[in-house]
Amino acid sequence: MTVRTRFAPSPTGYLHIGGVRTALFNWLFARQNHGQFILRIDDTDQQRNVDEALQPILDGLRWLGIDWDEGPKKGGPFAPYYQSKRLDRYQAAVERLLAGGHAYYDYATTAELQAERQAAEGEKRPFRYSRRYLAETPADRARFEAEGRQAVVRLKMPSEGTLVLDDLVRGRVEFDWAREQDHVVQRADGTCLYHLANVVDDYDFQISHVIRAEEHLSNTPRQVFILEALGYPRPVYAHLPFVAEPGSHTKLSKRKLQKYLKNRDFAAMVAHAQKIAEAIRHPTEADAFNPVIVDFYQTVGYLPEAIVNYLALLGWSLDDKTEHFSREELIEHFSLERVNKAPASFDPRKLMAFEDWHFQRLSRARKVELAAPFLQEAGLATSPISAETRRIMEKVVAAAGDRIKVAGDILSFADFFQPDDQLLYDEAAFDKHLRQGNGADLLCRFRDRLAALEPFDPPALEAAMQDFVAAEQIKLGQIIHAVRVAVTGKSIGLGLFDTLAILGRSRSLARIDRALGRR
Ligand code: GLU
Repeated sequence: MTVRTRFAPSPTGYLHIGGVRTALFNWLFARQNHGQFILRIDDTDQQRNVDEALQPILDGLRWLGIDWDEGPKKGGPFAPYYQSKRLDRYQAAVERLLAGGHAYYDYATTAELQAERQAAEGEKRPFRYSRRYLAETPADRARFEAEGRQAVVRLKMPSEGTLVLDDLVRGRVEFDWAREQDHVVQRADGTCLYHLANVVDDYDFQISHVIRAEEHLSNTPRQVFILEALGYPRPVYAHLPFVAEPGSHTKLSKRKLQKYLKNRDFAAMVAHAQKIAEAIRHPTEADAFNPVIVDFYQTVGYLPEAIVNYLALLGWSLDDKTEHFSREELIEHFSLERVNKAPASFDPRKLMAFEDWHFQRLSRARKVELAAPFLQEAGLATSPISAETRRIMEKVVAAAGDRIKVAGDILSFADFFQPDDQLLYDEAAFDKHLRQGNGADLLCRFRDRLAALEPFDPPALEAAMQDFVAAEQIKLGQIIHAVRVAVTGKSIGLGLFDTLAILGRSRSLARIDRALGRR
């Protein structure tokens, strides 16, 4: 049997992290079995522009390397892969269900159904439609229509017995037919309902394994009823455990970031990038981003391989201890049998830990390559980046170590890339260390030592600072903050001697002079 799996999103305008988990498991299973992974678009209930609402989903999947063999932009032997373009297939299926006696025209009004439902509730028995307005013959139909009634098509579901489903994740699952309803498959306006479309598509696209979120388990009996009535084979089912989301999440940050980019509002952008970097690390305090939208992670520079690794473990494990996997290792080891039933919870902090692990394994050159677009977008580097910028980036990346965990973290060190005469200052820090007290006077004298220092490297800088502190009979803190604010604009950053050495003598002096001049 050829393995054919599918991911069937509705075009919602964004790619949800839980959706990616479903897509990923389908993709891994298809790749492992040398089968095909199909992307199908469930757009029958679509109000908005489909292309626009689909784009972020396609972009997100591509970015994550979850490529599809058939589907939008790719085509395939069963194209089109959009439900909205397959309505005639669904119509034909409804007609076959009617002809086979598996479905019927029903002329009950909403009020009549409601009355039956209330009666059932009053008698404390489960509601099941009486089929009172079922039309069996053309004459029945004509009579009801003469009364001004309109028909829906309902499934003639069994009222007793059990459906047994062998689910690859959940094992043997039994459903009581008596608890099902005569579900509607076609509305009065002639449009078909989603479950019917779903079954017809899975059959037409020759889907062998339906791997989807657990919330669809309860839909499975009616889908199995439809497919068996149509004479289709049952696919293999695997219902994946529920993914719980973190409690607090609010607005998407990306729009804001883009607005800053567009206006070249560099200070706001750096501040915002730092705020979201902080928010990722402490998601409960997050007020600037929504951690369940994939877009966010792309915007701030996560590695696709870190996300894929972490999401693979939301419901699956190899041996309860191995945590880190490359994409190839996942394809090799993944198995639906080892997907567990317990709900998994999506924790952005854990995702950050995976990101950190993968990021720290990259070469310095690769880190620089990934970080460069963030400086370019912020207007702090040319495209392609200059040799000088690359040299500084390499040094910053080396000195920062694991303080850079996502590519966008380079923006926390944006001060290295700002022109010396446009350095931005944290005014509170500037006041404290350069306007109040004697910081500026000390800085002025320390400047002369820097001007003459040879070589201008971290050990020599450190020795010069010690000397200066001893000669002036001051505490280290009295000078160190003044120097830092003058050369970086802020009171936090890399080690000060690394910072000075990376900037070099002439840029350090230029920044000190500018700071002394703006008091
Ligand atoms: N469009 C459905 C969803 O987004 C897919 C259902 C299925 O996989 O059968 O949940």
